[in-house]
Amino acid sequence: MAATRTFSIIKPDATRRNLTGAVTKMLEEAGLRVVASKRIHMTREQAEGFYGVHRERPFFNDLVEFMISGPVVVQVLEGEDAVTRNRDIMGATNPANAEPGTIRKELAESIEANTVHGSDSEENAKIEIDFFFKPEEIVG
Ligand code: UDP
Repeated sequence: MAATRTFSIIKPDATRRNLTGAVTKMLEEAGLRVVASKRIHMTREQAEGFYGVHRERPFFNDLVEFMISGPVVVQVLEGEDAVTRNRDIMGATNPANAEPGTIRKELAESIEANTVHGSDSEENAKIEIDFFFKPEEIVG
């Protein structure tokens, strides 16, 4: 199967605890290659736009505040079946429900401060990659 791409964010709870390397190591050990990566501090507009699908959800405002509370690392990951592979190593949204060995089970603080974002479909991966990266920033 051909390599595909997904989009990942190492969230502010992880950068604050100096876990950028630990998260990236788990992604790489799961067979994903980091083909683009940059550390940014999201603006409110970026966070609201990125999580626009959740605008009506009760957690939206808190989520936006959390995502702009510190730097994040946005990444493009490449590998076989990258979207599913990344969702598998991330674990369930709520770390309490995540499988042992997953990033969220091992590292996350709470359902909100859950260390990583990962695209949930190939279609969304393309949209999310385009939201943060220019084509020339991705080096496969
Ligand atoms: N989230 C939250 N409270 C909830 C559900 C989600 O704060 O009850 C946050 C959490 O950071 C999650 C993000 O909103 O990662 C997006 O939620 P989604 O349901 O898309 O989960 P994911 O795809 O990240 O597992």
